[in-house]
Amino acid sequence: MAWRCSGRTNAELVSNLFSAGLITSPRVRDAMSSVDRANYCPSSPLAAYEDSPQPIGFGATISAPHMHASACESLLEFMPENKGACVLDIGSGSGYLTHVLANLVCGADGGGDGKVVGIDHIQGLVDMARQNMRRSAEGRRLLDSGKVELVLGDGRKGYPEAGPYDAIHVGAAASELHQALIDQLKSPGRMFIPVEGGDGWGSQWIWVVDKDKNGNVTKKKDMGVRYVPLTDAPK
Ligand code: SAH
Repeated sequence: MAWRCSGRTNAELVSNLFSAGLITSPRVRDAMSSVDRANYCPSSPLAAYEDSPQPIGFGATISAPHMHASACESLLEFMPENKGACVLDIGSGSGYLTHVLANLVCGADGGGDGKVVGIDHIQGLVDMARQNMRRSAEGRRLLDSGKVELVLGDGRKGYPEAGPYDAIHVGAAASELHQALIDQLKSPGRMFIPVEGGDGWGSQWIWVVDKDKNGNVTKKKDMGVRYVPLTDAPK
């Protein structure tokens, strides 16, 4: 189903995802429409509007658009626009989703009150994400205003310096539900995280971890997925 949503332009890709029901929220549709995926797939511009992952170098990939959409929709109620919501994007890679998340909390013109931190453990990718974001005026504004920060670090430890967070997105498969990340969620807050199934067959599942307003944590196992692993930084 997903590959049928590919388009010839960014607008067509997003519109196809919406028609197919892979994006259901108009807010997510609008946030994704306002970020040209080609800016974040510089080495494969022809494939930028395919609904599939694409290599971005350093052994990493930009995830498929329908996965980005699904992550945004899961976290959406914790990311109101212009309400100062604070979001952490772990394994930010190309920077594409960091930009979409910033559109959700700051509005597509970046004028609203909100903040997104993207963290990756490969300096070359942090630099590339900054470069990718600087390809558009909106991206430059988000970086220059400090509403988007792209930092180097081990995402398994989160980024307590800018937390706690209303929403945490993890873009690589964790070996466990890292307590440090749960600790950095606000009350209330939500984390979307792929976790290894530990069955020896390489299965992975999305877990949605909610912290309610009293600090109670609930964990829900969601769909089966395929992500690159959250690892030690390459030497
Ligand atoms: N959301 C990104 C996904 C990139 S792939 C995108 O769509 O562009 C997963 C990313 O996780 C890679 O960039 C990889 O470098 C990063 N990663 C893996 N282990 C990590 C760790 N321990 N800490 C931070 N980033 C990590």
